[in-house]
Amino acid sequence: MPWYRRPWCEYTFANGSAIMTHSFYKCRSCHQEFRPPIGGYYFVGEAPIAEPLAPSELLAILTRPAWCKDCNHICLVEDILPVRTFEAAYGAARKGQAVQYPIDTSWCEAPEMAAKVKPYLLWRMSRKLSARALCCGGRNYQFLDVAQPLLMHEGCEHGYIEPLFQIGSYCGPGPGVRSAADIPVHDTEGELRAYLKWYKQEDDTWTIEPASYPPATLDD
Ligand SMILES: [Zn+2]
Ligand SMILES: [Zn+2]
Repeated sequence: MPWYRRPWCEYTFANGSAIMTHSFYKCRSCHQEFRPPIGGYYFVGEAPIAEPLAPSELLAILTRPAWCKDCNHICLVEDILPVRTFEAAYGAARKGQAVQYPIDTSWCEAPEMAAKVKPYLLWRMSRKLSARALCCGGRNYQFLDVAQPLLMHEGCEHGYIEPLFQIGSYCGPGPGVRSAADIPVHDTEGELRAYLKWYKQEDDTWTIEPASYPPATLDD
Protein backbone atom coordinates (compact mmCIF):
# COMPACT_ATOMS: atom_id res chain seq x y z
CA MET A 1 0.00 0.00 0.00
CA PRO A 2 1.51 3.41 -0.93
CA TRP A 3 2.29 5.31 2.24
CA TYR A 4 -0.09 8.13 1.40
CA ARG A 5 -3.04 5.77 1.52
CA ARG A 6 -2.52 5.40 5.24
CA PRO A 7 -5.21 7.21 7.17
CA TRP A 8 -3.87 10.43 8.63
CA CYS A 9 -5.25 9.67 11.98
CA GLU A 10 -5.90 6.04 12.46
CA TYR A 11 -7.39 4.28 15.44
CA THR A 12 -6.58 0.63 15.80
CA PHE A 13 -9.04 -0.91 18.18
CA ALA A 14 -8.05 -3.85 20.31
CA ASN A 15 -9.78 -5.06 23.46
CA GLY A 16 -11.86 -1.91 23.68
CA SER A 17 -8.90 0.45 23.61
CA ALA A 18 -7.39 2.38 20.71
CA ILE A 19 -3.91 3.17 19.49
CA MET A 20 -3.67 6.30 17.39
CA THR A 21 -1.13 6.92 14.66
CA HIS A 22 -0.73 10.38 13.24
CA SER A 23 1.25 11.65 10.29
CA PHE A 24 2.60 15.12 9.75
CA TYR A 25 4.84 17.16 7.49
CA LYS A 26 7.90 19.18 8.36
CA CYS A 27 9.43 21.97 6.29
CA ARG A 28 13.12 21.19 5.75
CA SER A 29 13.96 24.84 5.46
CA CYS A 30 12.29 26.47 8.48
CA HIS A 31 11.36 23.27 10.39
CA GLN A 32 7.76 24.31 10.76
CA GLU A 33 5.47 21.31 11.28
CA PHE A 34 2.19 20.91 9.47
CA ARG A 35 -0.35 18.52 10.88
CA PRO A 36 -3.17 17.49 8.57
CA PRO A 37 -6.62 17.46 10.12
CA ILE A 38 -8.01 14.08 11.10
CA GLY A 39 -9.83 12.15 8.39
CA GLY A 40 -13.60 12.07 8.35
CA TYR A 41 -16.54 10.05 7.17
CA TYR A 42 -19.18 10.11 4.49
CA PHE A 43 -22.72 9.87 5.76
CA VAL A 44 -24.20 6.94 3.82
CA GLY A 45 -27.36 6.47 5.88
CA GLU A 46 -30.81 7.64 4.99
CA ALA A 47 -31.02 11.45 4.78
CA PRO A 48 -31.35 13.71 6.64
CA ILE A 49 -28.34 13.23 8.89
CA ALA A 50 -29.58 13.08 12.48
CA GLU A 51 -28.77 11.62 15.85
CA PRO A 52 -28.51 9.04 17.14
CA LEU A 53 -26.08 8.18 14.38
CA ALA A 54 -25.04 4.53 13.99
CA PRO A 55 -21.50 3.61 12.88
CA SER A 56 -23.10 1.63 10.03
CA GLU A 57 -24.21 4.98 8.53
CA LEU A 58 -20.58 6.11 8.20
CA LEU A 59 -17.97 5.31 5.58
CA ALA A 60 -14.36 6.41 6.11
CA ILE A 61 -13.32 8.94 3.45
CA LEU A 62 -10.41 7.99 1.19
CA THR A 63 -8.04 10.94 1.17
CA ARG A 64 -4.71 12.33 -0.03
CA PRO A 65 -2.71 15.00 1.76
CA ALA A 66 -2.59 18.37 0.01
CA TRP A 67 -1.96 22.06 0.48
CA CYS A 68 -5.09 24.19 0.17
CA LYS A 69 -4.15 27.50 -1.45
CA ASP A 70 -7.44 29.08 -0.38
CA CYS A 71 -7.13 28.15 3.31
CA ASN A 72 -3.32 28.43 3.22
CA HIS A 73 -3.05 25.23 5.22
CA ILE A 74 -2.38 21.53 4.94
CA CYS A 75 -5.59 19.64 4.25
CA LEU A 76 -7.04 16.36 3.04
CA VAL A 77 -8.45 15.98 -0.45
CA GLU A 78 -10.80 13.20 -1.45
CA ASP A 79 -9.08 10.33 -3.23
CA ILE A 80 -11.53 9.28 -5.96
CA LEU A 81 -10.25 6.67 -8.39
CA PRO A 82 -12.27 5.60 -11.46
CA VAL A 83 -15.39 3.44 -11.02
CA ARG A 84 -13.64 0.50 -12.72
CA THR A 85 -11.07 0.41 -9.90
CA PHE A 86 -13.88 -0.06 -7.38
CA GLU A 87 -15.58 -2.66 -9.57
CA ALA A 88 -12.33 -4.62 -9.87
CA ALA A 89 -11.80 -4.46 -6.10
CA TYR A 90 -15.34 -5.67 -5.48
CA GLY A 91 -14.88 -8.49 -8.00
CA ALA A 92 -11.67 -9.60 -6.29
CA ALA A 93 -13.25 -9.35 -2.84
CA ARG A 94 -16.15 -11.53 -3.94
CA LYS A 95 -13.65 -14.20 -4.93
CA GLY A 96 -12.04 -13.95 -1.50
CA GLN A 97 -8.92 -12.14 -2.74
CA ALA A 98 -7.59 -9.47 -0.39
CA VAL A 99 -7.44 -5.90 -1.73
CA GLN A 100 -5.68 -2.78 -0.42
CA TYR A 101 -7.99 -0.19 -1.98
CA PRO A 102 -10.56 1.17 -1.27
CA ILE A 103 -10.15 -0.63 2.04
CA ASP A 104 -7.54 -3.09 3.26
CA THR A 105 -9.28 -6.46 3.51
CA SER A 106 -6.18 -8.57 4.22
CA TRP A 107 -7.28 -8.93 7.87
CA CYS A 108 -10.82 -10.06 6.92
CA GLU A 109 -12.24 -13.54 6.57
CA ALA A 110 -13.09 -14.23 2.90
CA PRO A 111 -16.90 -13.95 3.29
CA GLU A 112 -16.49 -10.51 4.94
CA MET A 113 -14.35 -8.99 2.18
CA ALA A 114 -17.10 -8.17 -0.32
CA ALA A 115 -19.22 -6.64 2.45
CA LYS A 116 -16.35 -4.27 3.32
CA VAL A 117 -15.82 -3.14 -0.29
CA LYS A 118 -19.46 -2.91 -1.39
CA PRO A 119 -20.33 0.38 0.40
CA TYR A 120 -17.37 2.03 -1.37
CA LEU A 121 -18.52 0.75 -4.76
CA LEU A 122 -22.05 2.04 -4.12
CA TRP A 123 -20.71 5.42 -3.02
CA ARG A 124 -18.40 5.68 -6.06
CA MET A 125 -21.17 4.82 -8.51
CA SER A 126 -23.38 7.58 -7.15
CA ARG A 127 -20.64 10.20 -6.81
CA LYS A 128 -20.96 13.10 -9.30
CA LEU A 129 -18.54 15.88 -8.30
CA SER A 130 -14.76 15.68 -8.70
CA ALA A 131 -12.51 15.52 -5.62
CA ARG A 132 -12.72 18.40 -3.15
CA ALA A 133 -10.48 19.72 -0.40
CA LEU A 134 -12.22 18.75 2.82
CA CYS A 135 -11.27 21.98 4.61
CA CYS A 136 -13.45 24.28 2.50
CA GLY A 137 -14.91 22.16 -0.30
CA GLY A 138 -12.74 23.98 -2.88
CA ARG A 139 -10.41 22.70 -5.58
CA ASN A 140 -7.51 25.14 -5.33
CA TYR A 141 -5.04 22.63 -3.90
CA GLN A 142 -1.72 20.95 -4.57
CA PHE A 143 -1.09 17.30 -3.64
CA LEU A 144 1.72 16.57 -1.21
CA ASP A 145 2.02 12.82 -1.79
CA VAL A 146 4.32 13.33 -4.75
CA ALA A 147 8.06 12.63 -5.00
CA GLN A 148 9.34 16.03 -3.85
CA PRO A 149 6.53 18.19 -2.61
CA LEU A 150 7.58 21.81 -2.87
CA LEU A 151 5.71 24.23 -0.80
CA MET A 152 5.98 27.98 -0.58
CA HIS A 153 4.29 28.77 2.67
CA GLU A 154 3.90 32.03 4.52
CA GLY A 155 7.13 33.42 5.99
CA CYS A 156 9.39 30.84 4.31
CA GLU A 157 11.04 31.09 0.91
CA HIS A 158 12.23 27.60 0.10
CA GLY A 159 9.54 25.28 1.27
CA TYR A 160 10.49 21.67 0.74
CA ILE A 161 8.51 19.51 3.06
CA GLU A 162 8.74 15.87 3.96
CA PRO A 163 6.27 13.47 5.53
CA LEU A 164 6.87 11.97 8.96
CA PHE A 165 4.92 9.42 10.92
CA GLN A 166 4.27 9.33 14.59
CA ILE A 167 2.99 6.06 15.89
CA GLY A 168 1.37 5.20 19.17
CA SER A 169 0.98 8.75 20.37
CA TYR A 170 -2.19 7.80 22.16
CA CYS A 171 -3.48 4.73 23.88
CA GLY A 172 -6.85 4.61 25.58
CA PRO A 173 -10.54 4.47 24.80
CA GLY A 174 -11.63 5.37 21.26
CA PRO A 175 -12.59 8.91 20.23
CA GLY A 176 -15.72 10.50 21.69
CA VAL A 177 -15.53 8.69 25.03
CA ARG A 178 -13.44 10.88 27.35
CA SER A 179 -13.58 14.02 25.20
CA ALA A 180 -15.66 15.15 22.22
CA ALA A 181 -14.38 13.47 19.05
CA ASP A 182 -14.98 16.36 16.61
CA ILE A 183 -14.62 14.05 13.61
CA PRO A 184 -16.05 15.62 10.43
CA VAL A 185 -18.94 13.99 8.57
CA HIS A 186 -19.49 14.91 4.92
CA ASP A 187 -22.28 14.02 2.54
CA THR A 188 -21.45 11.71 -0.36
CA GLU A 189 -20.51 14.69 -2.57
CA GLY A 190 -17.96 15.96 -0.04
CA GLU A 191 -20.05 18.73 1.54
CA LEU A 192 -19.41 19.17 5.29
CA ARG A 193 -22.59 18.35 7.25
CA ALA A 194 -21.71 17.65 10.87
CA TYR A 195 -19.14 16.66 13.48
CA LEU A 196 -19.28 13.45 15.48
CA LYS A 197 -19.22 14.51 19.14
CA TRP A 198 -19.82 11.79 21.73
CA TYR A 199 -19.84 8.05 21.35
CA LYS A 200 -22.37 6.24 23.53
CA GLN A 201 -20.94 2.79 24.11
CA GLU A 202 -24.14 1.37 25.65
CA ASP A 203 -26.18 1.77 22.44
CA ASP A 204 -23.30 2.06 19.90
CA THR A 205 -24.35 5.46 18.54
CA TRP A 206 -22.91 8.96 18.10
CA THR A 207 -24.22 12.37 18.99
CA ILE A 208 -23.58 14.98 16.30
CA GLU A 209 -23.35 18.72 15.85
CA PRO A 210 -24.48 20.18 12.48
CA ALA A 211 -21.72 21.97 10.54
CA SER A 212 -20.95 23.45 7.13
CA TYR A 213 -17.97 24.92 5.27
CA PRO A 214 -16.97 28.51 6.03
CA PRO A 215 -19.30 30.88 4.12
CA ALA A 216 -16.43 32.67 2.32
CA THR A 217 -15.96 29.71 0.02
CA LEU A 218 -19.58 28.79 -0.63
CA ASP A 219 -19.47 30.54 -4.02
CA ASP A 220 -16.76 28.16 -5.23
ZN1 LIG B 1 9.34 26.55 5.63
ZN1 LIG C 1 -9.41 24.92 1.92
